[in-house]
Amino acid sequence: MKTAVVTGGASGIGLGIAQRLRSDGLHVATMDLNPPVDDDLAYRADVSDPEEIAAALTAVRDRLGPVTVLVNAAGVDGFKRFQNISFPEWQRVIEVNLHGVFHTTQAVLPDMLAAGWGRIVNISSSSTHSGQPFMSHYVSAKSAVNGLTKALALELGPSGITVNAVPPGFIDTPMLRRSEEARRLGGSVEEHIQRTPVRRVGTPGDIAAACAFLISEEAGYITGQILGVNGGRNT
Ligand code: NAP
Repeated sequence: MKTAVVTGGASGIGLGIAQRLRSDGLHVATMDLNPPVDDDLAYRADVSDPEEIAAALTAVRDRLGPVTVLVNAAGVDGFKRFQNISFPEWQRVIEVNLHGVFHTTQAVLPDMLAAGWGRIVNISSSSTHSGQPFMSHYVSAKSAVNGLTKALALELGPSGITVNAVPPGFIDTPMLRRSEEARRLGGSVEEHIQRTPVRRVGTPGDIAAACAFLISEEAGYITGQILGVNGGRNT
């Protein structure tokens, strides 16, 4: 049985991915800032801290063996006019969304290289297609994640490891609802649905389905791709 790590697996998209991969028969450990107490495969780790990631991974390996599937879903958003973003605020958004992917991927990679097989899926953002005002730090970090995905796909392909990105658009999670509540969406979720070609909001299950496919054996010829899951909002 394969072992997967899903960062950000305590909430929203990451939670949906962890549930889907478990129902597909993988061992799934999650890593979060506030792991649920009732899930004994949920570990506490700040993805921006390589020591916390290393400690959590040691515990995961001791219990579940080598990790050959990694989904980087942990993320934070940010919403501020560019000239008002302080450098520490800029840095934090980059640290979690980009450096978090660096630290976690580097930590897990030895297991995949030893196995000669691995699957990495990075959850970026549809804002990398469209841009997004007042989210320059977030869009910068997520765009870099797409770039990292492409570079790693070329580097790791010969080792049997695929690396793809899924940029979600408009998925019903606590992050989206917090943005709606703070009136940052430029309209309610309901109003956005009317502007979405498939006329509904996305679900964590929509993203999980894409991840489940990308980590499957039959997706072995797909790497370095950015697979938008956004109801047609970005084409
Ligand atoms: P969410 O419900 O807020 O979930 C994000 C998870 O990441 C939470 O469990 C959060 O923990 C965790 N996390 C945040 N900072 C972390 C850190 N430093 N270390 C470890 N875990 C951390 O948000 P979501 O909507 O599911 O977002 C999941 C991913 O999809 C994110 O990368 C987000 O940028 C991306 N995304 C979402 C949408 C959307 O429409 N929802 C669109 C584009 C991209 P806490 O709750 O404890 O902080």
